Amino acid sequence: MPVPFLNLKLQYKALQAEIDGAIRQVLESAAYVGNGPNVAPFEEEFASYCGTQYCAAVKSGTDALRFALMAIGMKPGDEVITVPNTFIATTEAISQAGAKPVFVDVDPATMLMDPTKLPDAITPKTKAIIPVHLAGLCADMDPILKISDYYGVPVIEDACQAHGARYKGRRAGSMGAAGCFSFYPGKNLGAFGEGGAIVSNDPEMIEKAKMIRDHGQREKYIHEVEGYNGRLDTLQAEVLRVKLRRLDEWNEARRRNADIYRELLADLPVELPVIPENCQSVFHLFMIQTDERQAVIDALKASGIGWGLHYPVPLHLQQAYASMGYRRGAFPVAERFADRILSLPMFAEISREQIEEVAGVVRQAIGQPALQMA
Ligand SMILES: *Cc1c(COP(=O)(O)O)cnc(C)c1O
Repeated sequence: MPVPFLNLKLQYKALQAEIDGAIRQVLESAAYVGNGPNVAPFEEEFASYCGTQYCAAVKSGTDALRFALMAIGMKPGDEVITVPNTFIATTEAISQAGAKPVFVDVDPATMLMDPTKLPDAITPKTKAIIPVHLAGLCADMDPILKISDYYGVPVIEDACQAHGARYKGRRAGSMGAAGCFSFYPGKNLGAFGEGGAIVSNDPEMIEKAKMIRDHGQREKYIHEVEGYNGRLDTLQAEVLRVKLRRLDEWNEARRRNADIYRELLADLPVELPVIPENCQSVFHLFMIQTDERQAVIDALKASGIGWGLHYPVPLHLQQAYASMGYRRGAFPVAERFADRILSLPMFAEISREQIEEVAGVVRQAIGQPALQMA
């Protein structure tokens, strides 16, 4: 039985009437792009969902990160600290906002920013810290925020994989100076195209981000700075409003699916996701770690099962950053993850039978007999 890595059709089919209605209403309104009345209801609802006061909807998660950093204000030579095991959008945003990415290694259990490594990376040029809530789990925010307070350096959360995740009761994106989200179709909350958002309790941060997303204008044709064409389409906003009402339910289903994987893989010599106490993951990804990765991938391929590597080459070893002069060994924890991680199919609608199929193939590839199902 083939199992896709992700199935977006099922989600659409379940909401088809409602989504088609929302789209038709936008088509008939003929208001396709806009900052004001068209997109504002989504911004209010998403801010409220995240537990923040304000939200600026933008064109992508990359824009969200870039505009948040631009709102803080980056000068040539400024530094922004993040982790090497993230999607390149995190560091693209840093460079494109005018600063230089600086990496710190990650925690060997959670794969997320290691707060103990942060103080050594901070210099007088550090202008922001971007922890990445990879795979749906929040980084250890309390120590990160403590360091941020001590040095007076704001934290921007890359919450592009963590819509709805909780850290000690607080929602992803609500803990730093700003939280950045992507609504790329495959994310836990996905649009029918590109989309993103910045949430914050700081009205100035959001006002600036809204100015930057709209060609640097607060008032039509009065340009304070050069900005971007980075507004969210009305169509995407309306689709997201429908889907946002289901997000908690879908995240709950992802957690149940993660529990099933856990139950079926518990006795294998593979590492399963570590979720610290007081944290609630939204399992954007279900990532295991194994020394037998190639054998498992070959077996999944042979069975028509989807898989992914998030991510196979840490950013400091990418050609794009060759000029930074990093060598293998610079961030050993992140490098080891890159060699051993494997993401298995994970989405809200995946069935128990499909998870059993995936787990069965993984077990076989690692040389473990099938589990006797009760
Ligand atoms: C998806 C993603 C982004 C970028 O979002 P886009 O909407 O694709 O621009 C940034 N950071 C992380 C960790 C992501 O997963």
